[in-house]
Amino acid sequence: MKKFLFLLITICTAQSYAQDSTLIKSKVANAITELRDFVLLPNDANNADDIDTNLYWLSKKFTERGFNSSILETEGLPLFFAALPIDDNKPTILFYMHFDGQSVDISKWDQKNPYEVVLKSKEGDGWKTESFDALNDDINYEWRLFGRSTSDDKGPIIMFLNAIDILQKEQKTLPFNIKVILDSEEEKSSASLPKAVRVYRDLLKADYLIINDGPVHSSGKPTIVYGCRGITTLSITTYGPLRPQHSGHYGNYAPNPGMQLAHLLSSLKDTDGRVLVNGFYDGIELDEATMAVLKSVPDNANEINTNLAIANPEKVGSFYQESLQYPSLNIRGLGSGWIGKNARTIVPAEATAELDIRLVPESDGNRLKSLVKEHIKNLGYHVMSTVPTREERMKFDKIVTIMEGNITDAFRTDLTNPFGNALVKTMESKFGEKPVQIRIMGGTVPISPFINELKIPAFIVPMVNPDNNQHSPNENLKIGQIAYGIQLFHAILHSTAVPE
Ligand SMILES: [Zn+2]
Repeated sequence: MKKFLFLLITICTAQSYAQDSTLIKSKVANAITELRDFVLLPNDANNADDIDTNLYWLSKKFTERGFNSSILETEGLPLFFAALPIDDNKPTILFYMHFDGQSVDISKWDQKNPYEVVLKSKEGDGWKTESFDALNDDINYEWRLFGRSTSDDKGPIIMFLNAIDILQKEQKTLPFNIKVILDSEEEKSSASLPKAVRVYRDLLKADYLIINDGPVHSSGKPTIVYGCRGITTLSITTYGPLRPQHSGHYGNYAPNPGMQLAHLLSSLKDTDGRVLVNGFYDGIELDEATMAVLKSVPDNANEINTNLAIANPEKVGSFYQESLQYPSLNIRGLGSGWIGKNARTIVPAEATAELDIRLVPESDGNRLKSLVKEHIKNLGYHVMSTVPTREERMKFDKIVTIMEGNITDAFRTDLTNPFGNALVKTMESKFGEKPVQIRIMGGTVPISPFINELKIPAFIVPMVNPDNNQHSPNENLKIGQIAYGIQLFHAILHSTAVPE
């Protein structure tokens, strides 16, 4: 019986694959038309009117597909929410995407209007504009659509809608309820999102969260990401004479704040880049299974090093993915006196280092900041959180001001999460190879607080090409990625096994 069932499923799958390419192509064509229409609406989150027009467009498109939609007011700009009718016996997937985009500097784009999608094909190292009519005969998956938010993040919304069309045409009963939350302020750090999730907790209630934002792995292969690092910052200032002094008169006499800061900073890390602050890496353990997943990511160390033009990487981890599993301590800016043509022969009055610390779930931001402060105290510094007065400067030999920045927490879903495993299986059977599994990505997604607030397993499933010029001029989306995204949304909703 089981064998028969298996055979039946295989035949059905084979049939649906046979329909696939024509059906998918027709949906890709439709997606391109819809994306052109959607991109035409400017979506700068600094402009509330922009967001309103986009909300109206979204309401229309989701309603056409049978969704109940609502606009959720927040302390900032409104969010868009949509859901298909809920069946209480099924688990719910909540999809998160965003429809706002980075603002544009028209002068830097190779097209007149960044909101009017331009079709281009590759020509040598550059791009050649093509007529959209050329797509009527056949759709070239290598060609690209150029325009703001084609990739980040309107493209994935359109892929989602067109996958829904196919599911509705097939009249399939889905194993999941579907909810969608579309952010209008992602490019502005989604400041009102964590509070909104508390206010709309019941509406957003779900079993799993899938985020469709950002690009696939640089290899271009199907990718699933289980988390992202958090971030916090420190600003460290050391002091010399009250005002900059002549280095001839006071060199050898007035203490130099740049030197002091250099000693301080060099005590934080060894020459291989490992943090020397006590307890900084506490709690991080990478077992064999985790290491195997990290090693399975097809990063090319030579390519990375060539891109960066570096001889050797630091040695926090023994390879790129391993290095991302730890919190980092980075000097993001450094300043004292003047440099270059403006350099002056002075002993400067102060020196400042701006640090950022990327966090992982094991490393609480407040704890790491205290450890760094403790380390600096142990060097003999009088640590302050304000600028010292003349009296204080005269009282303490070594004095430092440390200002602390906000904390955005990291998030990470367990690699063994059953729904994650089911997603991996879905992707593997759809695309014929295991997806690239990224345990934690290096950068910080501003929606981490939202994810941590929902307390459900979250996965980032990116849909777009890695070289999409996200946030920059000439943002683009490879047409093949539209086909990929439509098929992947379809497969996730239709063939992912519901975990026990
Ligand atoms: Zn984005």
